[in-house]
Amino acid sequence: MSAPTTTSLLDLAYNVNHFRQMGHELIDLLANQLEKSLNREDEVIPFRTPAEELAFWQEQLNKKTSPSETFQAILDHSTKVHHPGYMGHQIGVPALIAPFGGLLSDVLANGTGVFEMGMASNGLERLITDWLCRKVGYAAGAGFMTSGGTLANLTAMLAARKAKAPTEVWEEGHHEKLAIMVSAEAHYCIDRAARIMGMGTEGIIKVPVDRQFKIRTDLLEPMLQQAKDKGLTVIAVAGCAGSTATGSYDDLQALARFSHKHNLWFHVDGAHGGAVVCSEVHKHLVQGIQEADTIAIDFHKMMMSPALTTALLFKREEDPFKTFQQRAQYLWDSEQSYEWYHSGKRTFECTKLMLSVRVYLILTTYGEQIFGESVERLHATAKTFAAMLEEHPSFELLLQPEANIVNFRYVREDFQDLDRVNAHIRQQLVENKQHYIVQTTIQGKRYLRTALMNPFTNENDLRDLLKELASLGDQC
Ligand SMILES: *Cc1c(COP(=O)(O)O)cnc(C)c1O
Repeated sequence: MSAPTTTSLLDLAYNVNHFRQMGHELIDLLANQLEKSLNREDEVIPFRTPAEELAFWQEQLNKKTSPSETFQAILDHSTKVHHPGYMGHQIGVPALIAPFGGLLSDVLANGTGVFEMGMASNGLERLITDWLCRKVGYAAGAGFMTSGGTLANLTAMLAARKAKAPTEVWEEGHHEKLAIMVSAEAHYCIDRAARIMGMGTEGIIKVPVDRQFKIRTDLLEPMLQQAKDKGLTVIAVAGCAGSTATGSYDDLQALARFSHKHNLWFHVDGAHGGAVVCSEVHKHLVQGIQEADTIAIDFHKMMMSPALTTALLFKREEDPFKTFQQRAQYLWDSEQSYEWYHSGKRTFECTKLMLSVRVYLILTTYGEQIFGESVERLHATAKTFAAMLEEHPSFELLLQPEANIVNFRYVREDFQDLDRVNAHIRQQLVENKQHYIVQTTIQGKRYLRTALMNPFTNENDLRDLLKELASLGDQC
């Protein structure tokens, strides 16, 4: 046999020297960018319109740029979450050790669903989720990592149906009209989960909130009765810890009592705010969380991990294995036994990334106190910002934040159409590229919304933000 004389494309694609070189280049580019972002020496959002963005990438494609040119272009065209002017969405700011977990996962491509294709990640996943079960206060419990709060909430609702629906929906399809109860402020993914599960509009019972944007627990009993009268079978109640729009924490103790009394599944959507279990100062916000049958917590919100990194925790160790019981014996040792080391038995995903590695890297490098520090810093920044807004004549604060989310709006007595003005000044702000905030509609009014996710956002940054917003408003 003679050795091949020409280098095939495949040989090039697996050339380790190229890998080493590209890796060094990418790390250097990223480090340079991070330095600029953290020092506020660059734009937080290099805003362009969708059409401009598409045209740019079409041109890049035609130019056939090198990988390092592509790296740089992607950096130049992305929002910088490490910039302290980033106060927009709820995506957290990754600790700089964590992305290496993503790189490891991508290179190793261990699918994690079955033990032999994820020995390390299944072991780490067990440790990380057991640790988080202890933090929420479960006596035992078990969990797994999954790709985002959305999928975690859907999986929790499927577990609820498995446990509480009168018939075996998994085998026989729907007989009863099932329903779940949530706060009107719940994340839209719970509404979507209910619809995916065939419950329809009637099946998602939205309980109004009080002035603090918390679920009105006084309405739980009458609304449950109304649902029964309509022929619905309520299987679950989900609490917000905290809610997406305002970061408000529902009264979990009251929800626990209610669900216990009526034999409902109790789920806590702690995607954003479940992280407070790591803070001695703030964990009182989730009193009663240990009564929940399931809890979803995103590590990529306040826990410094790259998106998406989510844990779904179950109070009873055997429950996560019941959700997706079906025949797949070719993959697993035995269909009936609960083998924790095959994470795919419990997750929606078959193949998934090595999510636990990111969290493990943070935990072992810095210790678990870092998560408490992160939560405390972000909450404190929100309190500072709220105080500044209260003093500022041009702004109205929606409510005192319980977490790190602050909603407010620009106001002036002579303005009629404040919704339009607030939308306009936000758009201008983003196009000015120095600060990034979002907007939301709350009780029919347009608000400016900040999720204070960056631990380095300080009073000066907040003062600058308000100065810019006020001057944009005054020009309207
Ligand atoms: C972010 C969020 C979700 C959705 O989670 P993803 O990780 O974005 O899929 C669900 N619920 C709440 C309360 C959230 O804040």
